[in-house]
Amino acid sequence: RAEELRAAAAEPLVLPDGRRVLIAANIGSQADAVAAVANGAEAVGLLRTELLVLDRNPYPDEDAQTADLTAIFDELGDRPVVVRVLDAGGDKPVATLDVGPQRNGFLGVRGLRYLLENPHLLRTQLRAICRAAVGHRISVMAPMVTVGTEAQAFREAVDDAVDSLRQDDVPHARPEQIGIMIEVPAAALAAEQFAGVVDFFSVGSNDLTSYLMAADRTEPGVAELLDPQSPALQRILDALTTTAAREHIPVAVCGEMAGMPDQALGLVRRGVFELSMAPAKIPAIKHLLRSALASEAAGGRGTTAVGAAADRA
Ligand code: PEP
Ligand code: MG
Repeated sequence: RAEELRAAAAEPLVLPDGRRVLIAANIGSQADAVAAVANGAEAVGLLRTELLVLDRNPYPDEDAQTADLTAIFDELGDRPVVVRVLDAGGDKPVATLDVGPQRNGFLGVRGLRYLLENPHLLRTQLRAICRAAVGHRISVMAPMVTVGTEAQAFREAVDDAVDSLRQDDVPHARPEQIGIMIEVPAAALAAEQFAGVVDFFSVGSNDLTSYLMAADRTEPGVAELLDPQSPALQRILDALTTTAAREHIPVAVCGEMAGMPDQALGLVRRGVFELSMAPAKIPAIKHLLRSALASEAAGGRGTTAVGAAADRA
């Protein structure tokens, strides 16, 4: 049965209106890339690059980063891959980087904020990504973006990295798309400020929920507040997807929510073009969505467990 699900997972998911929804994998290593392919991932919606450097000493240089990424991209062949630049800080300390001490890392110099303060790190990483991208379909994405000027600075950093590789005569490919994570409530609520700057959004529902509910995602005592069904989260997703549709910015979801059986269909109904999740979750989620959509097409909307759950959303 697990085998059957995995085989079916390779087939694309097409909505009744002809729209295709990509079921993608979140990965953080070459082993994860292998698992993504084995589980039928059509794409990688999130490569967490901090996991490639977290415990590395010394911190990998441009050549080492290029080699690590090449090994991962080679496993994935021509599947599109979204590479997220380093998300250091918060719950992700990087041994060899001086990210702290900060009184509250989650609200401090984390993610893109840290990279914009340390431009050499960002430039080295972007150059490695562009070098490894040759022959693959690679996009880049920035974590923890709050305001439009940060997204603009990220885009400029990508342009600079590409220009520098061209000047150095180093083989490289420009990223297909430049995107940002939506995981700060301010970014979700004023998403129009990114129009004309970024090519896509990817909702980091883990951090978005945490920041919205003022509940640390690593603190068991407040875990109950991190509820994807909370009206506040549903409302902020409404605001985001409505603005994104108006501004023609595609929205993906790569937080845990994308792989939750009772959340996935609701996200598809909001117009999300890609759900990215742990590789092992792909076969079951795809099967669930396929059956729910088929029973809807047969006139039975809301009759399946998942349909009913999504209707309550
Ligand atoms: C998220 O915040 O939802 C997310 C996908 O990023 P991470 O879990 O790596 O912080
Ligand atoms: Mg996050």
